[in-house]
Amino acid sequence: MRVLVTGGAGFIGSAVCRHLVARGDEVLNVDKLTYAANLASLAEVADHPGYRFRRADVADAAAVAEAFERHRPEAVIHLAAETHVDRSIDAARPFIDTNVIGTFTLLEAARAWLGRAPAPIARGFRFVHVSTDEVFGALGPDGRFDETSPYRPSSPYSASKAAGDHLARAWATTYDLPVIVANCSNNYGPYQFPEKLIPLTILKALEGRPIPVYGRGENVRDWLYVEDHARALAAIAEAGRPGETYLIGGDAERTNLAVVEAVCDLVDELAPRAAARRRDLIGFVADRAGYDLRYAVDAGRIRASLGWAPSCSFEDGLRRTVAWYLAREEWWRPLAGRYAGERLGQAAVA
Ligand code: NAD
Repeated sequence: MRVLVTGGAGFIGSAVCRHLVARGDEVLNVDKLTYAANLASLAEVADHPGYRFRRADVADAAAVAEAFERHRPEAVIHLAAETHVDRSIDAARPFIDTNVIGTFTLLEAARAWLGRAPAPIARGFRFVHVSTDEVFGALGPDGRFDETSPYRPSSPYSASKAAGDHLARAWATTYDLPVIVANCSNNYGPYQFPEKLIPLTILKALEGRPIPVYGRGENVRDWLYVEDHARALAAIAEAGRPGETYLIGGDAERTNLAVVEAVCDLVDELAPRAAARRRDLIGFVADRAGYDLRYAVDAGRIRASLGWAPSCSFEDGLRRTVAWYLAREEWWRPLAGRYAGERLGQAAVA
């Protein structure tokens, strides 16, 4: 399959590119290379004949049109986005530019491409719009999100993703574009930029720095190993039903405190030091503004219709992830120039 991947130099996008190339697909990765991108995450596919890279902004209509023309894709997996909730609280504009205008630009380019693509390509074409469970807002202590859950985004990030989802569905309804929306729960794994909870905690634990936990650490997230998400997206691009929505999750609900404690214990085990336990570095800090209490996903539809299931338990995935960061200092050390572990997202508190 020829696939145009956007945001392929990011955390999930690079896992998608590695997975597609490994199984023999032809990938064109279109990425603007923002602070969150890292071409080092693509080292194992960079020289593969099935992989090409084009640096471009998905909101740049001419560049995106040229990418379609050059690659002649049979599917799009659209991951390019601004993704960090805390950054969206401090400055929402890039979130609107990429997650809304960028998605609009890509939908228009896909529509134009389908208008001139050869019939066999047009017939099987799928546009996979990658989104998040955060568009549904907060859950109480019970229940899970499913494909019928109403949209109630809380943060500028989740509102911008929700806007992108609505555009994608409207392009399906109005223009018959074969769009599929995939809303996934929190991902973790290798190659994640260290502003996010798990890699941030690993690096702080390793360096013996204070580990901040928002509120009392009671917020619950449903965690999925990134390579399981990449497999799900590949399966959707290949066999998903156009017009459908799929929720993707790992059936692994954990409080933030439980996640942070588990990371501390793994760092103690895998990088022992004589001094105190890493758990002693944990400190509670003021909650993030608008922080949703709980997310949990019912992934029944994708399990039943595409035969997908997570392959990796949270415990195994977390162990692999901590071991990966311990072994790959050359990947994360240079990122300190872009982000040094400081707290973000306090604009709403000021
Ligand atoms: P990331 O921040 O690690 O990477 C985003 C990538 O998009 C970067 O390589 C960046 O350079 C690129 N990008 C940003 N703006 C761009 C633009 N205007 N044009 C082209 N490229 C641009 O993100 P991630 O965590 O890998 O998330 C990927 C997608 O998956 C996003 O759409 C996100 O909303 C969604 N998602 C993420 C999670 C998660 O837990 N990380 C969960 C569910 C859904």
